[in-house]
Amino acid sequence: MLSSQLCIAQRWDGSSECKGSHQMTNSFDILIRRARLRSRADSLFDIGIVSGQVVALAESLAGEAKLTIDAQGNLVTESFVNPHLHLCKVYTLQMMDEEALTSYNAEGMGKAMNAIELAARVKEKYDEAWIVKNVRKAVAQAAIYGNTHIRAFADVDSKARLEGVKALIRAREEFKGIVEIQVCAFAQDGWVREPGVDQLMRQAMELGADVVGGIPWIEYTDADIQQHVREIFDLAQEFNKDVSMLVDDAGDPGLRSLEAMAVEAVRRGWQGRALAHHARAMALYPQPYFQKVVALLKRAKMAVVSDPHTGPLHARVKELLAEGVTVCLGQDDISDAYYPFGRNNMLEVAFLAAHLLWMTTNREMEILYDMVTVNAAQAMNVKDHQLKVGANANLVILDAPNVLEALREHRAPRFVISHGNLVDRPRMESVAQIGEWSK
Ligand SMILES: [Zn+2]
Repeated sequence: MLSSQLCIAQRWDGSSECKGSHQMTNSFDILIRRARLRSRADSLFDIGIVSGQVVALAESLAGEAKLTIDAQGNLVTESFVNPHLHLCKVYTLQMMDEEALTSYNAEGMGKAMNAIELAARVKEKYDEAWIVKNVRKAVAQAAIYGNTHIRAFADVDSKARLEGVKALIRAREEFKGIVEIQVCAFAQDGWVREPGVDQLMRQAMELGADVVGGIPWIEYTDADIQQHVREIFDLAQEFNKDVSMLVDDAGDPGLRSLEAMAVEAVRRGWQGRALAHHARAMALYPQPYFQKVVALLKRAKMAVVSDPHTGPLHARVKELLAEGVTVCLGQDDISDAYYPFGRNNMLEVAFLAAHLLWMTTNREMEILYDMVTVNAAQAMNVKDHQLKVGANANLVILDAPNVLEALREHRAPRFVISHGNLVDRPRMESVAQIGEWSK
């Protein structure tokens, strides 16, 4: 009598729910036993998965399964989501000299623009053939660490041309069903100040990029910043794509590109489709101006991605959260001219943020966990990214019974389920090592 047992399946919020065709079946693709849920830590649950979806969640489920996983009382949650990664640049640190990294962090980020100019040198060597190997290594690591969705930036400019975009699109297709990559064509070296970038960005969208990316604060004048923002939105509207922009990413309290982006999102009806990254100058905004920006962010339904581990300044995460703005955390960089470490482990990112943001109470650690799972998914417009009946089965079975231990140890999950399938860890370890798919 599986159907009656499944009908008592409960949503994670406690309400009863029974959906889909599973009532007629007596077999799951995957059955997770003895899972601890964040919201119901007092007891253990079974989770049934069929055809990529969570179809049942109850204290005890009867039935057959092709694969049964014993969670052994460890935490089972939504998988991790990384809304910000410069994926075309991963592991390029060895190709750089020390100068760029020193410049990005020096003098309260007063020389950040100079760092971007220095880092651009590596792009003269850009070639899809070597970039894609680095990309595979980083994405395979993401799979190992249960990071199943990435918004990945590929530089588009006169030096990088379309080499990064091509490499990321190739990896997106290779990792389909394991790690979902949203390829963001990103005008890293500017729009107005970089001749020909408008044509290259258009070509990137025609090649199949998923998101239009800008960096308006890097322009020389306020008029150029406005033009940059407008023309990025023009392209996004033309291709009906979401927008991501790196805004106010230097130690200058006078930067106003976050404001310009939010105003444009409202004007274009792009509410909920524009995502702001970095916004480090927010730390220096005068308070009345900060309040105005918060109001604009809410009107634009714009989320903010913060990466406090990659620079000495960061967005006002706690204040934004208190105001009801969606905030999430991104990996940002992996061993490039801006940041030497990183391995696509979002628990590690949250662990670092806990220190830099001073978020160490139990409640704050739960918020940090949201910022690398459900908040990040919402910011990236990944639908149904919650552990509940009827949602997509993108889950991690951790090696920790609670959020505190998960953050403290930030170990790789014991098992990762992506799109309803168990991720093949030995295979991912091999790709992460050699940057090639083994035969
Ligand atoms: Zn970044």
